[in-house]
Amino acid sequence: MNNGPDAQKRKNPAMLTKDQMKQRVCETIAAQRDRLVALGEDILRHPELGYREVRTGALVQDVFQSLGLPVQTGLGITGCRADLNGQPGGPRLAILGELDGIVVPGHPFADPATGASHACGHHAQICALAGAAIALATSGVMPELTGSIAFLAVPSEESQQLEYYQKLLAEQRIHFCGGKSQLIYEGVFNDIDLAMMIHAGPACFAPASFNGFVMKCITFHGHAAHAGLQPELGINALSMLRMAINLWDAQRDTLRDDDAVRLHGVITDGGTAVNVVPATAKMELQVRAKTPDAVQRAADLVDRCVQAAALAFGGAADIENILGYMPLRGYPELDRIHGDNLRRLAPQEPFPNTGHRGSSTDMGDVSMIMPILHAYCDGFAGKAHGADFLVTDPDKAYVRPAQILAMNAIDLLADGAAAGRAIAALQPPMTREHYLAAMHRLTGRKQFDFRTADPAQANGPAEKRFGNPR
Ligand SMILES: [Zn+2]
Ligand SMILES: [Zn+2]
Repeated sequence: MNNGPDAQKRKNPAMLTKDQMKQRVCETIAAQRDRLVALGEDILRHPELGYREVRTGALVQDVFQSLGLPVQTGLGITGCRADLNGQPGGPRLAILGELDGIVVPGHPFADPATGASHACGHHAQICALAGAAIALATSGVMPELTGSIAFLAVPSEESQQLEYYQKLLAEQRIHFCGGKSQLIYEGVFNDIDLAMMIHAGPACFAPASFNGFVMKCITFHGHAAHAGLQPELGINALSMLRMAINLWDAQRDTLRDDDAVRLHGVITDGGTAVNVVPATAKMELQVRAKTPDAVQRAADLVDRCVQAAALAFGGAADIENILGYMPLRGYPELDRIHGDNLRRLAPQEPFPNTGHRGSSTDMGDVSMIMPILHAYCDGFAGKAHGADFLVTDPDKAYVRPAQILAMNAIDLLADGAAAGRAIAALQPPMTREHYLAAMHRLTGRKQFDFRTADPAQANGPAEKRFGNPR
């Protein structure tokens, strides 16, 4: 029987200092380096798209089960969760890893059938999640941490291929396209106080905030007619669409700079034949802004422009708001802890706050209801979402993020979870109920119909349309 100093420390974990705990988790992860790199390379070669990450989810479940942790599965279809408890009474911290890939068919490790690839580096997040779980579960630090840790593999951050999501929504298999929104809806975050994750990037940094957005699928309905012979019998849906774009373009200078509004989209249907007045025209538009209110205001502006264009032409329009993410609000208190732990491993590594980002993530949704960390790590080269986005340094991409997440957890839950309690007490912008209500306001369908019973009459004699002019 071993009664040496190590056994004594294990019996009386209070003998471990925070530094010693950090050293233990870092050493545990370093010893698992080859396993983590192999896991990352495996997922890299088997990318899966949102809500279809079955194989990737099973790999995470295997890791949790190998640690003897009970696993909840089927969260947001493919997500899973395992919990590890320290001393009772502290906050519950979630460590997140995103499961999904993104469609970039030219990526060297893209799936030839689906075009899915890890051109956003989410495969590395799974290594960070797995490595942190292995270290915290096996290094003997949990008995002297106060609170608990939920390891959470989350589906569908990229939310691409809207037709697939529309099918899942219609079948009521999901309620939201963003995986984290879906997990919030399912109640998976109900017992969680803080959440953190690390995303692949060109460098180590933390943004102050991200835009939120709503995605609008807009369809204009006109009336077909011979474009040369009898255009007066038609209602031109493509012209309606152009007019709607002009209406919001004309108002761009009235948008507040601070709101960081971005309106960008593509025309997906501009008519069927050159000699037919287009009866239908469609576009997909993303409306982004920095705060939930600014997203709502910009979305309302777009809706008014669509309505006005339909009215002007005596046509009709539908707006389907099928997808939205909330803006991300950063929490500098968590960024500071993360930066300190990064410097512990890489004293020269800068970790700047890079300000506002015009892009969006569904970690923003989580940031609306609890303090979160969304830091970036280096170890990658190429353009995010580009065919050249690849891991260049497996230690920085797969191993170091796991060490930092485990050390962050120690900082938050050591010393009676003093730091974790203080940060958990910060007021997020919304409750879960407010969040769900705001999401429902942003999503859903709007319809405007100004067509007459006989569409051809819209361009008929003026007295038929407006009554007899005096
Ligand atoms: Zn990503
Ligand atoms: Zn991405």
